[in-house]
Amino acid sequence: MHRCPIQCIVPPYIVERMAHCEDPRIREQALVALTTGSAVRAVRAFAQQMPTMLAVPSPVGRRNRLIYDARGRDTLPGRLVRAEGQKKTADAAVNEAYDHSGSTFDFFQDLFGRNSLDDAGMSLISSVHVGESDGTGYQPMTNAFWDGGQMAYGDGDGAVFGRFTQSLDVVAHELTHGVQAFMSNLVYRGQSGAINEHFADVFGVLVRQWREGTTAADARWLVGAEVLIAAPTRRAIRDMEHPGEAFRDDPVLGSDPQPNHMKRIYTGPADAGGVHINSGIPNRVFVLVAQSLGGPAWEVAGRIWYDAMRQLSRTSQFADLARITAQIAGDEYGSGVRKAVRAAWKKVGL
Ligand SMILES: [Zn+2]
Repeated sequence: MHRCPIQCIVPPYIVERMAHCEDPRIREQALVALTTGSAVRAVRAFAQQMPTMLAVPSPVGRRNRLIYDARGRDTLPGRLVRAEGQKKTADAAVNEAYDHSGSTFDFFQDLFGRNSLDDAGMSLISSVHVGESDGTGYQPMTNAFWDGGQMAYGDGDGAVFGRFTQSLDVVAHELTHGVQAFMSNLVYRGQSGAINEHFADVFGVLVRQWREGTTAADARWLVGAEVLIAAPTRRAIRDMEHPGEAFRDDPVLGSDPQPNHMKRIYTGPADAGGVHINSGIPNRVFVLVAQSLGGPAWEVAGRIWYDAMRQLSRTSQFADLARITAQIAGDEYGSGVRKAVRAAWKKVGL
C-alpha cells in the first residue's frame, strides 16, 4: 500500500521551501497555513524542534538527513533521533535509514548532478518504527512509504516481513518516488502508475549496484530480499529479471502476480489498476537492456532511464516509455544501443 500524496492546495514541496525561508514572517505564515497531512506535520514538528536550522536552507550540494522515531505510532515524523553529521545510535533502524538515504542522495548527485529529491537541497526526512492503528491500539507497520514529503518505515510483522530499513533497494525505491514527484509525477494509476513503480524499482536496485560495484551480469535484480523473513517459498518482494517468480505458493503471500509480457498484462481494478503488478513488464525490459549492453547498469541503461523519467508526462503509458527510451538511446549512444533497447521492448510485446 502507498498512501496517496497529500491533497493540499499548496503542495508539500512548496510548503517545505516556505517553511525554510530566511524571512521569519514567511516562515511563520507557512507554518500557520499548514493544516493536515503527515508531510505537513513533518515540517511543523521539524519547525518546533529545530527552529534555528529552519532559518537556514539546506546548504547547496550538502546532504541533510533527519531521522525520526515514530515510537510505534502513526503520527509523523515523531521524535528527532539523528540529524546530519551526528554519530551512530544504538538503534539499527535509525542507522540504516541514515546510511541508505545517504547512499541514495550520493547516487543521484554523483551520477546526475542532482541536489536531493527536488534538486534544490531538500532535507531527507525519514521516520522509523512507524506503527499502524487497528482501532484499539498500535502494531508495527508492515510497509514503507513515501507520503509526498518524507519516508516512513515500519518494523514488519515479524512473521513474513522484518524491518523495512534493512534493504538499501527499498529505501532507494521510496526516495525515487520522491525524485519523481519533482519530475514527470506520473499519475499513480494504471500504466502511468506502473511506470512510476518501475522507475522506483530501477533506481532502487541501481543505487545498490552502484554502492556495491556490481555489474549488470552479476546483479541479482531483486527488490526487498532482506525485508522478507527467509522461507523456501519466497526470495524477494519483486524479481526484475524474472517477474512473477519472486515468491511462489507461499502460505501468506501466495504467488507473485507480476506479468513478464504484454499478453498477460493485468487489467483489473486492484492495486490502483496493477501499479505494482504490471511494473514487471518494463522491469524486465530494463534488465534485458542492461544485460545486453554489459558493464555497470547505471552507466548507460541507467542514464537513458533517468532522462526518460524527466521527459515523460503525467499520463504516459508503456508505449510512450518504449518510444522515449529508444529515442534517447539513439540520440545519446547511437544506433547499436537503440537497437538493444528496441529488441528488449519487443521481447515483452511492445
Ligand atoms: Zn513504490
